[in-house]
Amino acid sequence: MTEVSVTKDAIPPGADDLVVLKNVNKHFGALHVLQDIDLTIKRGEVVVVIGPSGSGKSTLCRAINRLETVESGDISIDGKPLPQEGKALARLRADVGMVFQSFNLFAHKTVLENVMLGQIKVRKTSKAEAETKARGLLDRVGVATQADKYPAQLSGGQQQRVAIARALAMDPKVMLFDEPTSALDPEMINEVLEVMQQLARDGMTMVVVTHEMGFARSAANRVVFMADGRIVEEAVPEQFFSNPRSDRAKDFLSKIL
Ligand code: ADP
Ligand code: MG
Repeated sequence: MTEVSVTKDAIPPGADDLVVLKNVNKHFGALHVLQDIDLTIKRGEVVVVIGPSGSGKSTLCRAINRLETVESGDISIDGKPLPQEGKALARLRADVGMVFQSFNLFAHKTVLENVMLGQIKVRKTSKAEAETKARGLLDRVGVATQADKYPAQLSGGQQQRVAIARALAMDPKVMLFDEPTSALDPEMINEVLEVMQQLARDGMTMVVVTHEMGFARSAANRVVFMADGRIVEEAVPEQFFSNPRSDRAKDFLSKIL
């Protein structure tokens, strides 16, 4: 294995806690999908979540923006418990940007409209302001020239970059990425990872579920390894990849590296 270099800046020692999960539990029927999850993510931190399929990674992400409810434990964002419903829940969803494996763009809206819509509906931004911001973000993710097209006219990599721009348009406090490159053709993976790398360097707080270990090594402050609904191990990437402590992590890494 080649020597690992960690390029993500360390989190400043004074950074405050942005996402806090305390003793979170959830079942799907008999399946205990989240078991006593304790996880604290500091402002500006990039946490990569890895683990075998079915270990609860997506459920964890979905619990953080309340697409899934949990049965016990506390989840808070920026010091506030997750709201249960109504306008507060819509605002939470805006504060917690989410990018899925399937790009989930609005098919009947143009690229530009996709990035404007949430700003107007949820943030109550004026149309002109929303458009200026949307164009700026599309430029930032490298798809400015696609603004007037419909999602189906774009490649998968372009669509995923639009999905990132759409989430960023809400000025989220944290971005969740659930296997954002898993549905992409190989040649499009890097263009999406590069946008995410840049976001990490710009100081965005990020939770990223991914099998892209190169990204984990270079962009993560911390790797969280999940198996069977539990956080089995957490470490800085260098340590996790060169010296995993648990047998589960050793076994997982031996299969994917
Ligand atoms: P991962 O993202 O790590 O692959 P998931 O969080 O998607 O894992 O799923 C964890 C487990 O929970 C899997 O066994 C999956 O089949 C199950 N599961 C996920 N969503 C549901 C659901 N809505 N209803 C029942 N079981 C579910
Ligand atoms: Mg998943």
